[in-house]
Amino acid sequence: MRLPDIHQAEPLPDAVRSEVDRLLRTGDLFRYTAEADAPATLLETEFAAMMGVKYALAVSSCSAALFLSLKALDLPRDARVLIPGFTFAAVPSAVVHADCQPVLCEVDATYRIDLEDFAAKLAGVDAVIISHMRGHTSDMDAILRLCEAADVPMIEDAAHSLGTIWRGRRIGTLGRIGCFSFQSYKMINAGEGGILVTDDADLVARAIIMSGAYEHNWKKHQALQEAFATHQNRLPLYNLRLNNLSAALVRAQLPELPRRVADGRRNHDLVAGLLATSPHICVPSPLPGEERAPDSIQFNLVGLDTAGIAAFADRAAAAGVKVQVFGLSADNARAFWNWKFIDDLPDLPQTRAMLMQACDVRLPVQLTPDDCHAVAQVLLDAVSDVSKAAA
Ligand SMILES: *Cc1c(COP(=O)(O)O)cnc(C)c1O
Repeated sequence: MRLPDIHQAEPLPDAVRSEVDRLLRTGDLFRYTAEADAPATLLETEFAAMMGVKYALAVSSCSAALFLSLKALDLPRDARVLIPGFTFAAVPSAVVHADCQPVLCEVDATYRIDLEDFAAKLAGVDAVIISHMRGHTSDMDAILRLCEAADVPMIEDAAHSLGTIWRGRRIGTLGRIGCFSFQSYKMINAGEGGILVTDDADLVARAIIMSGAYEHNWKKHQALQEAFATHQNRLPLYNLRLNNLSAALVRAQLPELPRRVADGRRNHDLVAGLLATSPHICVPSPLPGEERAPDSIQFNLVGLDTAGIAAFADRAAAAGVKVQVFGLSADNARAFWNWKFIDDLPDLPQTRAMLMQACDVRLPVQLTPDDCHAVAQVLLDAVSDVSKAAA
């Protein structure tokens, strides 16, 4: 069977060409030049409507959105921010950038937050960032309940979870602020870009100003105008705006989202079903009420030691499918022990054990069912060879 290129992106919709051409002709790339209807502004309106929230702010990346969220919460210097031990390095980086201290909590073998450790560490933190890592949703009902009881604001890092539903609600709209990415490996690809959403007019006004709406550019945003007036000239400008060209690329892909989510879920579930036929592979099931929007699959190898897991990844790679074992690849940005910019980095034995065996394979949404069968067959052959050799 012919293998697909799992690193290739889906082509952008043809419909975007005329808008890109207009932007090239007019040079109208800065979001605040036009009096009204700049692509960045239209993106905010459309994204907020799509997510069913009051406000959206388009920015240069999800990292920027996370940083601005922390800044908008007006946390004191050195505030402690609870984050999962399994996330992308951008998350603790945003915390450090905002002059706060990351506090790491354990993640379990199903890539979800360990609620016992989370509850224990919640006392004494000033904010929480929940990363829906690779689209896996932790028990958000429990997390929301705990955060509410402790009166701690929760920010959702939904960078890789656009389109995921948790018990009928859109992931990214559960917390005080939700952050999404438009980097090329996410559901919507603008190369770079991000957006934050919230229902809180004061929070978004603060984030808008700090994102670089200097002077009276905030008048081009629809949030409570008195919130802006309160903060005028009182907040630093970090200039993390999204440009119109990127915004146009994102806008053109919004109508594609439902199809991409459906195709991604179909591909994931197809491969998951095939892999489940092996006694050596365990694909964690979704929680009740979790409807994922995956563009990759994660699974655990059963009964193989570290050498066996490495041999599995080598065999799959030799056969044309790249498997990332988060804890085995050197300098992996999702392995917490590589976040050496954090003082007093804790050990998280449970999260470490998960990272040493969790396998990650990209399944871009444009793969066909035949492509998925071919990818699954490579993985099944590799695990069967390696476990025979180990027996
Ligand atoms: C991609 C990603 C980020 C960072 O997004 P950028 O837009 O590249 O800054 C943060 N968190 C998670 C879980 C991600 O997958």
